[in-house]
Amino acid sequence: MKDYYRILGVSRDATDEEIKKAYRRLALKYHPDRNPDNKEAEEKFKEINEAYACLSDPEKRANYDRFGTPDGMGATADAGFGPFTSTFSDIFEDIFGDFFGAFTGQRRRTRPTRGADLRYDLTITLEEAVKGTEKELRIPRWVSCDVCNGTGAKPGFGPVTCPDCNGSGQQRFQQGFFTVSRTCGRCGGTGQFISTPCTKCRGEGKVRRYRNVSVRIPPGVDTGSRLRMTGEGELGEHGGPPGDLYIVINVKPHKFFKREGLNLYCEVPISYPQAVLGGEIEVPTLFGTEKIKIPSGTPSGKEFVLKGLGVPRLGGHSRGDQIVRIYIDVPKKLTPKQKELLQEYARLSGDEVQKSFMERIKEFFSVNE
Ligand SMILES: [Zn+2]
Ligand SMILES: [Zn+2]
Repeated sequence: MKDYYRILGVSRDATDEEIKKAYRRLALKYHPDRNPDNKEAEEKFKEINEAYACLSDPEKRANYDRFGTPDGMGATADAGFGPFTSTFSDIFEDIFGDFFGAFTGQRRRTRPTRGADLRYDLTITLEEAVKGTEKELRIPRWVSCDVCNGTGAKPGFGPVTCPDCNGSGQQRFQQGFFTVSRTCGRCGGTGQFISTPCTKCRGEGKVRRYRNVSVRIPPGVDTGSRLRMTGEGELGEHGGPPGDLYIVINVKPHKFFKREGLNLYCEVPISYPQAVLGGEIEVPTLFGTEKIKIPSGTPSGKEFVLKGLGVPRLGGHSRGDQIVRIYIDVPKKLTPKQKELLQEYARLSGDEVQKSFMERIKEFFSVNE
């Protein structure tokens, strides 16, 4: 005869709490998921379960104390207790909650469960990211089938009591002297099964439905920003709350602007005469056209800052700038008149540029000699 008290490492007058604690500690230690392919741990795990199933039940414990077996006189309980019958997953759930629900692969079907979170990838333009926008999204989610009211049974053919277990969800059979109980294979332990499935949901009890969700995209989002919409995920089960909807932002690259943090960069061409003589140019921004004064003698690559015309900080008050980088446009085609004037200009300025460049180079070499 097995000594259940010794197996759990508690005294014969241990309280229910002490037994529960001892069992929890040992079950976690010897659980097959933590000891894969370990026959010894598996045996130990079975023993612990057997001991706990007996000692946690006042009636069985009393029987065991008096007769040395949980079922009263004559029988032993060994055959009835495997670690994964529904009896045991129930014990697991009572003690360990959801943690062990995942372990045993079985969950109590009536436990309120939070719905799953959903992810939606949304691509927007740079303008929308900078200014904010409102979008209408079509989000699919599972809803209770309206034809069968979520039962999965064709109307008029509602779930029937499982004939294999008579609705108990357990199958008991005699094995020698012992009564063995096992989760009913036909109904999966629910005690009911569907003889004629609903044609709309094919017996699932739920269908995919699209609904429109309106979402406000705040100014300042960037690629990778996540917006959470509480309660817009999958519906919960058995009164559990719905999950959340996560909108993950992707901002399309812009043809003219390049974003770096809160700043927007762009390149604007000017003509050589504009660079030399100065002038005023018009520059596009995301908020209309702006004028920039080009001082005389502006070199290629010079940057001008348009304050506050960049990206607003998400959820903040500050804004980035627009940086305009100037480059000198070299025309590929000239009218004969333009060509003539340019040649004239070249004659007048001679080889000034080349000369001053060579002067500087000479200086450089002499310094380094
Ligand atoms: Zn249905
Ligand atoms: Zn059944």
